[in-house]
Amino acid sequence: MSIVTVENVHKRFDDNEVLKGVSLNVETGQVVALLGRSGSGKSTLLRCLNGLEIIDSGRIEISGHTMDYEPKRLRALRQDVGIVFQSYNLFPHLSVAENIMLAPNLVKSLDKTKNRQLAEQVLDRIGLLDKIDAYPDKLSGGQQQRVAIARALAMEPRVMLFDEVTSALDPELTEEVLAVIEQLARDGMTMLLVTHEMNFARRVANMIVFMNEGRIWETGEPEAMFAHPQTPEFRAFTSRNVK
Ligand code: ADP
Ligand code: MG
Repeated sequence: MSIVTVENVHKRFDDNEVLKGVSLNVETGQVVALLGRSGSGKSTLLRCLNGLEIIDSGRIEISGHTMDYEPKRLRALRQDVGIVFQSYNLFPHLSVAENIMLAPNLVKSLDKTKNRQLAEQVLDRIGLLDKIDAYPDKLSGGQQQRVAIARALAMEPRVMLFDEVTSALDPELTEEVLAVIEQLARDGMTMLLVTHEMNFARRVANMIVFMNEGRIWETGEPEAMFAHPQTPEFRAFTSRNVK
């Protein structure tokens, strides 16, 4: 069953049409890697999926929510759709636990003990339980990004969106973040991720979406797509990016 349905979505910024009729279906448990050159519309598409950008036309349905930007329904939708960016934006004056519990506190009205348990649960999942009372500046960039992922998981989302979450990290820190995402994939989380890590995309994704100039240019299963690019654009992209 589809958990994400995108139908003929158009999005423009002034006279720059960034999404030119994007349609996409994602099944529950699928891992979709969004690839494409800078400026091809990948981030905009992800942002549209949790209502950070308002589409001009088309239809988005995600985890049973129809995107209509009505504030109350939008909040409900965002509880089901987590997003993590390149910049992790943890609050420096709050501990790891406090960062994680901030949003659940606002929307879930759990008591203190339950909240703490939730923080423990998600930190255990990303392997940072021992940092629960640490402050962000005591963590490496990779650990901070993992906490940002844990913070999104604390809302118990049904779909996770990742936008180049390792792009700001050194290679040795990239691996630990990719490992967390790979574990989520094994746990059956539905995910759409924008990444430059081609080997990771090939290994973890079960669907590749190659975007070019605001359109889904080519899509398919990783092995077949990388072995036999169907378009000159994807062929050029892989020859530049796959070693
Ligand atoms: P990608 O993530 O594939 O690099 P983006 O979705 O970020 O691409 O950007 C696609 C195009 O939309 C670019 O030309 C970018 O300059 C433009 N764009 C993105 N966000 C905005 C915005 N908030 N205002 C104006 N233009 C934007
Ligand atoms: Mg981007």
